[in-house]
Amino acid sequence: MNNFSQYTPPKHKQDFIAGEVALVGAGPGDPDLLTLQAFRFIKQADVVIYDRLVSEEVMALLPEHCEKIYVGKKQAEHRVPQGGINQLLVEHAKLNKRVIRLKGGDPFVFGRGGEEAQFLLSNGIACHIVPGMTAASACTSYAGIPLTHRKIARSCTFITGNVQNNGELDLPWDTLNDAEQTVVFYMGIKSLPIIIEQLVKAGRNKNTLAAIIRKGTHVDQQLIKGTLKTLPELVKAHQIKPPSLIIIGDVVGVFSSEQMANLGYLKAN
Ligand code: SAH
Repeated sequence: MNNFSQYTPPKHKQDFIAGEVALVGAGPGDPDLLTLQAFRFIKQADVVIYDRLVSEEVMALLPEHCEKIYVGKKQAEHRVPQGGINQLLVEHAKLNKRVIRLKGGDPFVFGRGGEEAQFLLSNGIACHIVPGMTAASACTSYAGIPLTHRKIARSCTFITGNVQNNGELDLPWDTLNDAEQTVVFYMGIKSLPIIIEQLVKAGRNKNTLAAIIRKGTHVDQQLIKGTLKTLPELVKAHQIKPPSLIIIGDVVGVFSSEQMANLGYLKAN
């Protein structure tokens, strides 16, 4: 489907008006996972202010004339501080441009999209919120891990594993110990040993299945499966780096690696 002629979006979402900002979720990497709305807004952009997590394939969809401003962040190395990003958004909107703030995943999930929207509104600038598939959802599905599964997981939690400025990882561990709860940690790969130690201390069984997905949905995705006991060694052996998700819960075992033939593709035999 190359045009959307059979579908008309609601009036307020049809046109991207100059002088407005769109906070657009680019999803976890595979451009096929963009929403139609994200695609439509991207195609109208005059300026895009984007992060490290936005894939090259998504960037390639931007119009040629579009100005591209990189404000990517690495842990502990903020290229452009948040205040600077907020200013950039306002400045370009005031130049009467169609400004896209393009973020990996969903702009409102560990993406500071809420703060950016608040700043824009306080400067009199309207903004569109264009949801994206958040990593915890898209990467697990593509890796054949259902976040919930009858009799195995009845809830799931998305939580940050990023340490606070004081170097501590102060999380509500006692709320994460239900054996039928899937827990997905964002930004947690460096804290993996602490995360596992605390989960076991809080009561999760050491033999609970667990997985790491690095660069989920990308062609070079890495998927590692183990248990709470074995995961730290596996991560070391495979030299896993960010961006990675940690998935804790027996849902990791619902499909085998033989069945999981390709990204988002399960083979029958
Ligand atoms: N707004 C984003 C999250 C940004 S926080 C979203 O909704 O997905 C950054 C963290 O997201 C990374 O450290 C990693 O834990 C996770 N992440 C984002 N994209 C990922 C991907 N393709 N594969 C694995 N983890 C990813």
